[in-house]
Amino acid sequence: MRLERPDQRGRFGEFGGAFAPETLMPALEALEIEFTNAWRDDSFRGELDGLLATYVGRPTPLYHADRLSKQLGINLLLKREDLAHTGAHKINNTLAQGLLTKRMGKKRVIAETGAGQHGVATATACALLELECVVYMGEKDIERQALNVYRMKLLGATVVPVTSGAGTLKDAVSAALRDWVASVATTHYIIGSVVGPHPFPWMVREFQKVIGEELKEQMDAPPDVIVAPVGGGSNAMGVFYPFVGMDGVDLVGVEAAGLGIASGLHGASIGEGSPGVLHGSMTYMLQDEFGQVLEAHSISAGLDYPGVGPEHAYFNDAGLVRYVNATDAQAVEAFHLLARSEGILPALESAHALAWIVQEASQLSGRTVVLNLSGRGDKDVQQVARLDG
Ligand SMILES: *Cc1c(COP(=O)(O)O)cnc(C)c1O
Repeated sequence: MRLERPDQRGRFGEFGGAFAPETLMPALEALEIEFTNAWRDDSFRGELDGLLATYVGRPTPLYHADRLSKQLGINLLLKREDLAHTGAHKINNTLAQGLLTKRMGKKRVIAETGAGQHGVATATACALLELECVVYMGEKDIERQALNVYRMKLLGATVVPVTSGAGTLKDAVSAALRDWVASVATTHYIIGSVVGPHPFPWMVREFQKVIGEELKEQMDAPPDVIVAPVGGGSNAMGVFYPFVGMDGVDLVGVEAAGLGIASGLHGASIGEGSPGVLHGSMTYMLQDEFGQVLEAHSISAGLDYPGVGPEHAYFNDAGLVRYVNATDAQAVEAFHLLARSEGILPALESAHALAWIVQEASQLSGRTVVLNLSGRGDKDVQQVARLDG
């Protein structure tokens, strides 16, 4: 059964909770109270809805992909999160948490970022709401994603290189958490997905579920299948949540199979991971036999994370959502397919979800399938060009 909210300890069944340093507990408790009050407050909701409409461009369209539908023998609809301001669903969360930051009287925001998409969405919200913005980013990611680093700087953010560990996303999250322990009185941490200690997974789900609520309104009847890519799990949570437990709606989350599950180089935290504590919550994660976190691998930076939101772990064990995967190569093929058939360049993350649909097309024959097109692919064009030689 779907839970409206986690239990007293912040758990979805056995998953979730708040495994955080003592110094952060008061801030997490205060955040839970602030969020609960704000979410019940018509003036907060009104301000957020106004910005979602006039600044983000919501509702995002639901587009019927005619040519690809014919080609695949299914009825394929695209929920166009790629058309949201900054090019993905992430702005839904950063804007809402930015407003919450102001409501709490805090003036400084920190965030972690992998490829820079969450960093850009956070820097954007901070520019709009006049908040100071500091983004932690792995050294290796800074090299790989120079354009997004410059974007964040243009938006007025400070980007702090993280040299510990492998210099990637998981190290950036750890650095942001360290900053927060020291700065919590003046600073809010805008986490980028439905991950982290309670109340973040629940709060970010509430901020992203607008995707699924719109989808419900945009359709005469619920679809047969909804497919979304799963990194930390926020776009999938957003589109799934209003449909979870509904009869006849198959929900499918697509994780990164990287170079192939057998290679060991992938990001399939639910499919191949096991329960453990990562970044403040109990969830499925990639870990070795000693419980050390393993590096994830994916062509797609947004899916390159060794954990997943705890509510997804709960959905998996409760049989409410199916979690499958697609490889780097399948995603690149799907990227080309959508570009040529519909004139849309999808984010490589979203291309993973399309890749699964393509692979399963004969099983899905005649059914109505919604793909959550979580973001646009302009950011991935160089990478695809390199692969294509
Ligand atoms: C960040 C990102 C994702 C993965 O994050 P989730 O929290 O799993 O949604 C997926 N798609 C796009 C376009 C992204 O930018």
